[in-house]
Amino acid sequence: MKRQLAAFALLGLIATPLWAANHCSTTIEGNDMMQYDKSEIVVPKSCSTFTVTLKHTGKLPRAAMGHDWVLTTKANEKAVLADAAKAGLANGYLKPGDKRVIAHTKLIGGGESDSVTFKTSALKNGPFVFFCSFPGHETMMHGTLTVK
Ligand code: ZN
Repeated sequence: MKRQLAAFALLGLIATPLWAANHCSTTIEGNDMMQYDKSEIVVPKSCSTFTVTLKHTGKLPRAAMGHDWVLTTKANEKAVLADAAKAGLANGYLKPGDKRVIAHTKLIGGGESDSVTFKTSALKNGPFVFFCSFPGHETMMHGTLTVK
């Protein structure tokens, strides 16, 4: 009986992260053509946290073709972008501690990747948008995030 319980416990430990990886996370790619490979991300309602991994599949350095993944509300999008440009490359083109930003990855260059995990309870007052905050990239690198 004890052995059975241990087996169940072990199974639980393995199964939980796998399930989370399948349902409560996604990967988005950015390239040297200033493009994401996704324009929509759907967060399942059953997820308590959600992880986004950004992969830069290009070769250009961060200073020339840096990408990040920034999540905010549509209402705050313009203001976040305006402050991001002012913050400059040294701050990864985001105002430090910007409370309007729900989640964001680091600004990365070609060949790099970064992940961010956020609580889905933070998804209030949508609709939600994501974009790259590198100046000028948002026109091409932009999408919507919905909870379903
Ligand atoms: Zn970018």
